[in-house]
Amino acid sequence: MALAMLKNPTEAQLGWQALVKAVEQFATAADLADIIAIVRATARDISGADGVCFVMRDGECCHYVEEHAIGPLWKGKRFPLTACISGWCMLNDKSAVIPDIYVDPRIPHDAYRPTFVKSLVMVPVKTDTPIAAIGTYWAETREFSADELALIEALGRSTSAAIGAVQLRQSLIESEHRLAMALDAGGLGAFELNVATSEMIATPAAKAMFGIDPDAACSRNDFVAAIHPDDRDAVAWLFETGLSRDEEYRTADSSRRLELRCRMVTDGDGTPIRVTGVVRDVTERHQAKERLESLRAELVRVARLNDLGAMASALAHELNQPLAAASNYLHAAERLLDRDLTQARGAITKAEAQFVRTKDIIQRIRGFVGQGKSERTSEDIEVVCREVLELARMTARYEDVAMYLKAETGLPKVEIDKVQIQQVLFNLLRNAVEAMGGSAKRRVTISVSRDGDMVKLVVADTGPGLAPEIAAHLFLPFHTTKEGGMGVGLSLCRKIVEAQGGKLWHEPGDPGATFIFTVPVAAA
Ligand code: ADP
Repeated sequence: MALAMLKNPTEAQLGWQALVKAVEQFATAADLADIIAIVRATARDISGADGVCFVMRDGECCHYVEEHAIGPLWKGKRFPLTACISGWCMLNDKSAVIPDIYVDPRIPHDAYRPTFVKSLVMVPVKTDTPIAAIGTYWAETREFSADELALIEALGRSTSAAIGAVQLRQSLIESEHRLAMALDAGGLGAFELNVATSEMIATPAAKAMFGIDPDAACSRNDFVAAIHPDDRDAVAWLFETGLSRDEEYRTADSSRRLELRCRMVTDGDGTPIRVTGVVRDVTERHQAKERLESLRAELVRVARLNDLGAMASALAHELNQPLAAASNYLHAAERLLDRDLTQARGAITKAEAQFVRTKDIIQRIRGFVGQGKSERTSEDIEVVCREVLELARMTARYEDVAMYLKAETGLPKVEIDKVQIQQVLFNLLRNAVEAMGGSAKRRVTISVSRDGDMVKLVVADTGPGLAPEIAAHLFLPFHTTKEGGMGVGLSLCRKIVEAQGGKLWHEPGDPGATFIFTVPVAAA
């Protein structure tokens, strides 16, 4: 509206100027309280009124939160929405223009009588729906020109817009806060690269992962320099293209590993503007992967024991021949002893040579099962068991068996050859799993507890238990109920455990079989 067309240009001009000032102030308002303060300070200058009120909707009430007037109005008071003009304004989403309050039925006259007010204009303030109203009051009855009304309504709309902006900013802050929390929870850092300036904006977590001072300004080059020289080209390429690869990048000193995911943001023409991304420290995941690899290698070693059945028959075959030969030479030597000592000696030497061959064969098999030398170290038995379970779970046939570890708290360290004890455990697990093939419930539990100066391991399954013909000769080699089984496993397990100062025995379970063995507590 052109100022020159107004009825009272000077006053109106002042009003519009005051409104412009208020709008400027609204731009820096941080919250609703700031906006109310600005309205309070400027609304009388804008409207030329004798008093102004800021009224907030509070459920079914109007709350007169602020006022600025020549005499007291209703600051701090609450009235039902239906019992006052500000309520009417909010309920109807309309301005109320009242030249004489005492002839308007919408006005609660008793509430006005103690005040100076004779006429008023009330405008709604709204975001989606009216949430407040601004009242402007005069001490005389009067008519309001369209221009005056336009100014007051503009104040209402500006206030509405300011509240909308504050709410938007607050929800932006909230969502930034939520994003920060989500990043934190996921152990993620976020960054944004300005393609034109190479300037990098990053969260403190992202900077920390790249080893960059959280307060320092930084650029793309600082981020690239924080990466190991061999991985730098890959990261630079990532920042250039915004294309993520399934790769981990080492930090400059190789102490940490980072995973980066990026996205390129382009303008309407497809020109790159920003690369946004997240970074995660995956050092621990990497270490776990490495550990898994070494466990896998160990599995191969432990699994050798399971091949013992097949190997034992090959071994028997191989040993048979030199032993038979040696026996023949010895018989011959016996016969030759009182006839031809030289020939007898020759036969004994040949027999010896055959024994050396058998010794070689036996040594070979010892090497194969890793029993050559027992290396006993102080170990955490819970970790020993956990690793075996981890290994077992990696083997497909153990998949549909539930395996539990129940370890007493505060267990002491044990003095064992870790690999050999793991072989024993693995063998007991394998036997249990094989026995439960036809069982509805398939569960193996390893329970670990202290038993004096020993630690006791109980491996209990829910299978059918031992076949009677086996129970009597359980730990003697070559007793088996399995096709292709050699029945060497348990006898060897017992030998391993006994060599380490422990015992291994069987107790019938209810249902199933229970194998128990002990290992010595390590000297403190
Ligand atoms: P193998 O497994 O080669 O037969 P083992 O010495 O390990 O040799 O086991 C001997 C026999 O003991 C098995 O054939 C099986 O009949 C029996 N056995 C071992 N463990 C269990 C178990 N948990 N439940 C039932 N029977 C078992």
